[in-house]
Amino acid sequence: MVLDKTGTVTSGHPNVSDIIPAEGISENDLLAAACSLEKLSVHPFANAIGEECMRRGLKTQEVFDFKNIPGRGIQGSIHGKLHTIGNLAMMQELCADSTALQHFSEISQKLAALGKTPVFLSDGSRILGMIALADTVKHDSKEALQLFKHMHLHTVMLTGDNPQTAEAVGKQLEIEDVRAGLLPEDKERIIRELQNAGRKVAMVGDGINDAPALTRADTGIAIGAGTDIAIDAADVVLMKNSLMDAATSIQLSRQTMKNIRENLFWAFFYNIICIPAAAGVLIPFGIHLHPMFGAAAMSLSSVCVVLNALRLRKFRPFVSRSSAEKTSYPGTEPLQQQVTGSYPKSGKESMTLPKSLIQSSQQEKTAMEKIIYVDGMSCGHCTARVEKALKALPGVKNAVASLTDKNVTVTLEEPVETSILIRAIKDAGYEPVEK
Ligand code: ADP
Ligand code: MG
Repeated sequence: MVLDKTGTVTSGHPNVSDIIPAEGISENDLLAAACSLEKLSVHPFANAIGEECMRRGLKTQEVFDFKNIPGRGIQGSIHGKLHTIGNLAMMQELCADSTALQHFSEISQKLAALGKTPVFLSDGSRILGMIALADTVKHDSKEALQLFKHMHLHTVMLTGDNPQTAEAVGKQLEIEDVRAGLLPEDKERIIRELQNAGRKVAMVGDGINDAPALTRADTGIAIGAGTDIAIDAADVVLMKNSLMDAATSIQLSRQTMKNIRENLFWAFFYNIICIPAAAGVLIPFGIHLHPMFGAAAMSLSSVCVVLNALRLRKFRPFVSRSSAEKTSYPGTEPLQQQVTGSYPKSGKESMTLPKSLIQSSQQEKTAMEKIIYVDGMSCGHCTARVEKALKALPGVKNAVASLTDKNVTVTLEEPVETSILIRAIKDAGYEPVEK
């Protein structure tokens, strides 16, 4: 399993955390120039810089000859001067000012060690400054990676980002194989190498820079919010942005293949026995197959195959028990800890499940009861759907939805992550809400 970093493992909604201008340049001038270029880019960093610029009410300038250099940065002319914004490798290639580069690269290493991504802006002759962007790991990426491990998939993370930032993210997610500083063609080459080593490769990505790798992989999986080019290049497009859906799609594929093999068995088993019998092979042993029974057996064979195929409707994504035990995510900790809201967090996104979503109740009789507020339940049919979705989850003993209180009380027989309960409610078509 090969994963892109920015926008795939991480949220892809970074924010500007540090602005370090060169001497004689103000923070706002640096940002305005960066934003002028970024407004023509679709990279996640472009949004972050654009938002910061808007927050400060800065004016941008017109850009000519805009060029996107995938995996490195962007370029364009402002007032006739070619400006570039991108990573250190790009600056090293373009910028003659080695003293300033040395100075900024030292600062950038410190920021990268904190998991931030520094990008540099140059006007061709000198470096105008550096902007650091902080992205957060998606709240369920760790859970998805635990699942990949559980499914015996070797995981590799590929990124165009710098090695320190990539290592920091890899460490957070316990990914051992992290490869950084890659261009789009490097990502494609690594996938080819893995294939040449006899591996089947699935690649999950979201950016323009992932397109060659997505095409090369045996199965290319694009994140729903990814760029159009990534979506076009992929074989599978996830409806949402969660890596958990990539795990689910692999589980569903495996289950489907198993079902196909079972169906082939039933089809062959019937035919191997019944065709010779219908041809009269067993007549010397006194066994005649009446044509009526032959026809019935044929139909029964089809019925078996269809019924077996229909079992796939009962497919429920498997959730790794070990991931639930080992990962400190909302829902795995004792309830007392949850209701006081002390979520362990690895980044901003870990907080996407607000503590008020899960209410502590005076009437809670056991420590294994959770109350989740749900929007959109308007009739008995709705409550039944929510209850059914929750009861189908392993570890859930009972679920009682209330139309008047607009909530559902879930009784657990073992710890179940809250994110899983929330997902089941969402999949049933209803929205858990903050109260
Ligand atoms: P990933 O492989 O993790 O998705 P990308 O290949 O999109 O990352 O980007 C790699 C690096 O190139 C970024 O970390 C950044 O330094 C630089 N970069 C790419 N596009 C831009 C942009 N529009 N603005 C600033 N920097 C960019
Ligand atoms: Mg990406």
